Amino acid sequence: MKINIIGAGMSGLCAGCYLQMNGFETEIFEKHSIPGGLCTSWKTGDYTIDGCAHWILGSDAGSSFYKMWSELLDMKNIEFHNHDVRVEVDVRHNVNKYGSKTFILYTDINVLEKYLLDLSPEDEKPIKEFIRSMRVMQKFDLPPIMDDLPFFQAMWRGIKMTRYLEFVYWFLKLKNETNFTFAKKLKNKFLRESFEFLYDGYEVNILVITMPLSCFDKKSAGYPIGGSLAFAEKMEKRYLQLGGKIHYKTPVKKILVENGVAKGLLVRNNVIHNSDIILSAADWHFTLFDALDGKFVDKNAQDLKDLKKLEVFYSVLQIGFGINADLKDFPHFFRFPLDEKLVLPDGTIYDRLEIHIYNYDPTLAPKGKVSVVVSFYTKEGDFWIDLRKNNRVKYREVKKDFADKILHLVEKRLGTIIKDKVEVIDIATPATVYRYTNNWKGSTQGWLPGKNLLAASPVDFTLPGLKNFYYSSHWNQPGGGLPIAIKTGRDIAKHICKINKKKFITVAAK
Ligand SMILES: Cc1cc2nc3c(=O)[nH]c(=O)nc-3n(C[C@H](O)[C@H](O)[C@H](O)COP(=O)(O)OP(=O)(O)OC[C@H]3O[C@@H](n4cnc5c(N)ncnc54)[C@H](O)[C@@H]3O)c2cc1C
Repeated sequence: MKINIIGAGMSGLCAGCYLQMNGFETEIFEKHSIPGGLCTSWKTGDYTIDGCAHWILGSDAGSSFYKMWSELLDMKNIEFHNHDVRVEVDVRHNVNKYGSKTFILYTDINVLEKYLLDLSPEDEKPIKEFIRSMRVMQKFDLPPIMDDLPFFQAMWRGIKMTRYLEFVYWFLKLKNETNFTFAKKLKNKFLRESFEFLYDGYEVNILVITMPLSCFDKKSAGYPIGGSLAFAEKMEKRYLQLGGKIHYKTPVKKILVENGVAKGLLVRNNVIHNSDIILSAADWHFTLFDALDGKFVDKNAQDLKDLKKLEVFYSVLQIGFGINADLKDFPHFFRFPLDEKLVLPDGTIYDRLEIHIYNYDPTLAPKGKVSVVVSFYTKEGDFWIDLRKNNRVKYREVKKDFADKILHLVEKRLGTIIKDKVEVIDIATPATVYRYTNNWKGSTQGWLPGKNLLAASPVDFTLPGLKNFYYSSHWNQPGGGLPIAIKTGRDIAKHICKINKKKFITVAAK
């Protein structure tokens, strides 16, 4: 049975791998010339600028996602870097008892607990609760892989699942807790300001902080040395080894449908590729409203398009620098307040700068040099996409002026150490994200999670009234990210096996 897949992003490659393992004949059609989609990095001069993975959930056996990654990649032979510190944040108003304005978010939970208690023994109760919630999460790592087990194994799993009640208790307890509500419980002014500022002054659910920390502590959310594209290329290699075929530089224009059955793909130069099943692992909006001309849109999809249900995840404006200095003495990731508000060309206001120094990945720059990235997350993706489309000259000017401004701020902060040492300046905007990956509004992770973290998935694998068609990508689950992209890829492959009465099998990568 033949399956045509749209998109060689991580979800498309992953679905392709599992379908190949299960005896289907698949071909992927990809508009770009490389694999990975959003999971990417690019070369500028001697430097590699990374455009994606700061951490990959399941990078070590400490997480159940590791099992899934290991079905796809030879994880033991991929080097991951685990940071001791997640981020260093300078607060604006308060100092800690040592006279420092810098809050350090350690990744080792024991170290973090000691650090917080030392700074504020009077806050022992909320600090201990905060730490305990992470320890509980660690004990009950959610099993993402739900295979159809034989009776006794299923029964045993059921018994084990009742132990999840403690996890559920904590989950419900923290459901409405945010960094702001947690900060209010703290007596220590420095810690209070630190927690409020932890997400750029935004209010986020406390689970957004504690869930990743519980993984960092177990060293199961590492950064892949070599960068994101090198990581995606490993997935591409596995897919090809399993017998898959990829057509690069082949944008899909339309999904061809006859009498409610998906039949084939219309690609570049009006070539048609027929197949028994079509799987789109490309952007959700493109798939429904362009490739299928909006013909299979129910009220749910229309509400999503009208942004009545969820917001689209932030896009990103990323200024990369190649610097002729190793910057080994700087933290790898830090944030500090600015003296004056910074207005992005799209109108987004920032009053801080966040600098990411890749001084822990020697493969991204020549010896003694380093790549540095300053990122701004924005909801104004369309501003950049429209500007590039309507006025290319102005787009370039705006980019350059903004990059100059940022260079000035970076120089001010890093000081003389980088004076005259900036060799490369690279600017990627939401228009870049859109151009290379087609993600609607330049979204970096699909949908932004809504208030209800337990809400059902907004985007289904299938479409009403359309046979032999499936959909899988980070748009399936709010929050997106690589684990969601591969989990949906696996789930859809399993579903296709079930529909075709095939037992789903996996073959571990070696
Ligand atoms: C700056 C940044 C930082 C991130 N950090 C992390 C992180 O630390 N950890 C993490 O887990 N996730 C992170 N993410 C998110 C993660 O990269 C994405 O959620 C994930 O890669 C999405 O994969 P996907 O396959 O679902 O979609 P995509 O990557 O969008 O893949 C879709 C593919 O379809 C192709 N395509 C689209 N339209 C067509 C067409 N018409 N014809 C042919 N091909 C088409 C695209 O070119 C693309 O290759 C980050 C993303 C960004 C941008």
